[in-house]
Amino acid sequence: MTFAYHKPPSLPEALALLAANPGRFPVLAGGTDIVVQWRSGLLKLEGVIDISGLSELRAISITEEGIEIGALVTHSAIAADRIVVQRFPALAAACRTIGGVQIQNAGTLGGNIMNASPAGDTLPVLLAHEAMFLAQDLKGERWIKANDFFVGYRKTSLAPHELLTRIMLPMPDTKERARFYKIGQRRAQAISKVSLCARGRVRHGGIEWVKIAVGSVAATPMRLPGTEALLKGKVITQALIDKAGASLADEVTPIDDLRSTADYRRFAAGGLLARYLREVTIKDFRRASSV
Ligand SMILES: Cc1cc2nc3c(=O)[nH]c(=O)nc-3n(C[C@H](O)[C@H](O)[C@H](O)COP(=O)(O)OP(=O)(O)OC[C@H]3O[C@@H](n4cnc5c(N)ncnc54)[C@H](O)[C@@H]3O)c2cc1C
Repeated sequence: MTFAYHKPPSLPEALALLAANPGRFPVLAGGTDIVVQWRSGLLKLEGVIDISGLSELRAISITEEGIEIGALVTHSAIAADRIVVQRFPALAAACRTIGGVQIQNAGTLGGNIMNASPAGDTLPVLLAHEAMFLAQDLKGERWIKANDFFVGYRKTSLAPHELLTRIMLPMPDTKERARFYKIGQRRAQAISKVSLCARGRVRHGGIEWVKIAVGSVAATPMRLPGTEALLKGKVITQALIDKAGASLADEVTPIDDLRSTADYRRFAAGGLLARYLREVTIKDFRRASSV
C-alpha cells in the first residue's frame, strides 16, 4: 500500500483535503507526537496532511481581546515571545518544560492541544486562561472554549474535517499573578506526573479570585471550580490551604500508571496549589498565620 503524503501550500487547500478525506489522513504539524505514535505501531497511517508549510499559522499577534497564537507556533517561539513572557508567564513556563530543546523547536501549540493528552503541559495553562480555539473548515469557522474542548481521554470536540488554526487568550489583568508548576521524573524530557496552573488576583493577603487547572490527574486536563469557589474572597491561612488541598483531592480522579500513583498525584497536586497560594500571598500569609 502506498503512503499518501500531502503537503498543501495554502490553508484553503489544506481545508479542501480535510473535507475530501475526513478522518482518513491526520494532520502532521511538528510530528513530535504523531510520528512517535506511528513508528511505535500505536497508530496506523494511510497518509498524512502535512500542514507545516502553512506560514499563516505561525504568527503571534495582539488583538483587541488578547493574544492570538497560530496553531503552528512552536513551544520555543512562544517561550521567546516578549508579550507572552511579560503577560502570560505561565504559558512561557509551560512551553519551557516540554521535552528538551529539540522537541520545543519542532513541537507546536496546536499539536499539544490536538494530541489532547491529560499530561499535555500547555493545557492547564490554556484552561486557566480561558483560552478559545478557532476551528476552521471549508464552510467557515467557529470558536470553541478550551473548557468545552477536551471531551474525553485524548478526545476533542474538533470535527474530523476541521483544522485548529488559532488559539486566543484574553489579555490578563496586569495585577494578576499566574504560575505553572510541573512535577516530572526529571527536569527535561519528562512527561508530567502532575501539573498545575493557577492565576488569580491577591489583595490584602486574600485571594480576590483564582482560576486553577490541573494536568495528569484525570482523563482530561481540568479546571477545579469547587476549589476556586472555596478560595474566592478568602484570606490565605494554613487552615484554608489545607481545606483547598482536600477540595482539590475530591475534584480530581487520578489513576495509577507507569509514571505515578493516584495517591501521589492527589497529594502532589495539593502541594502545588499550596505552593502557589504561599508564593503569591507570602508577606500577608506570614502575618495571618502568626496571629
Ligand atoms: C521526547 C519527547 C518528549 C516530549 N515531552 C513532552 C512534555 O514534556 N510535555 C508535553 O506536553 N508534551 C511532550 N511531548 C509531546 C509533543 O512534543 C507535544 O505534544 C507537541 O506539542 C506536539 O506538537 P506537534 O506539532 O509535534 O504535533 P504532531 O505530532 O504533528 O501532532 C499531534 C496531533 O495533533 C494533530 N494536529 C496537530 N496540529 C493540528 C492542527 N492544527 N489541527 C488539527 N489537528 C492537529 C495531529 O494530527 C496529531 O494527532 C514530547 C514528545 C517527545 C517525542
